Amino acid sequence: MNNSAKYDFTIIVPVYNEEDNMANLESRLSAYLTEASVSACILFVNDGSKDSSLQLIREVCGRNPHFYYLSFADNRGLSAAMKAGIDYAESRLVGYIDADLQTAPEDFNLLLADADEYPLVLGIRVGRKDSWFKRFQSKFANGFRRMMTGDGVADTGCPLKVMQTQYAKRIPFFTGMHRFLPALILLQDGGKVKQTPVRHFPRVAGVSKFSVWNRLIGPFKDCFAYRWMRKRYINYTIAEHNLNN
Ligand code: UDP
Ligand code: MG
Repeated sequence: MNNSAKYDFTIIVPVYNEEDNMANLESRLSAYLTEASVSACILFVNDGSKDSSLQLIREVCGRNPHFYYLSFADNRGLSAAMKAGIDYAESRLVGYIDADLQTAPEDFNLLLADADEYPLVLGIRVGRKDSWFKRFQSKFANGFRRMMTGDGVADTGCPLKVMQTQYAKRIPFFTGMHRFLPALILLQDGGKVKQTPVRHFPRVAGVSKFSVWNRLIGPFKDCFAYRWMRKRYINYTIAEHNLNN
């Protein structure tokens, strides 16, 4: 058991070269913890940052209760950071927000309202504050993915999500899976997804880590992998056991 087991909700924050966002993260997240609708902690996952992010994370965790971190030896990508957070989270619920705070931590409370009923609750970014080019890519990618996966989700990439941890731990993990979370949750027996409008803000510090190519080409191929996986996915129901006797 680790410290996250003491809370209802673990908020995973992937961090790759986000030193200019750390001060903001500290104040916004610590303020949110006081008004969260369930008991919550923060789990930074430092994805091999090459700037001073790790040093700042250590300092922030040192002076704030309920702040924890994991740190990778080197850069493994957003999906890996998310997987590590889910692997180590032992609370009933697990959430995810980007370190650039383009979504508001306070809006977690909107998602938490449905988290007991739905294994995944995710945001739909309303009034997106990204460039027209990024919005265009996102619209195109979402449309294609929806057609291929049939997940019916408007905004898979929204960086504000809450999952029931037992469902999150059963997701098949691969690089790029962070763009398929709803479709991957829907593979599971009982998997259902709720979408809730949330606010969106511009990135005020640091730079985006993804280019057109890794936003479109990889995910295009992953759509086919998903369809293969859907045919092969293992679900089972335990009718009886004596493990707890
Ligand atoms: N990120 C990460 N590892 C990477 C790339 C990004 O942990 O290799 C983190 C990054 O620090 C941020 C989140 O993933 O918290 C989303 O990245 P970004 O804001 O650059 O993506 P965008 O919003 O532009 O799609
Ligand atoms: Mg971002």
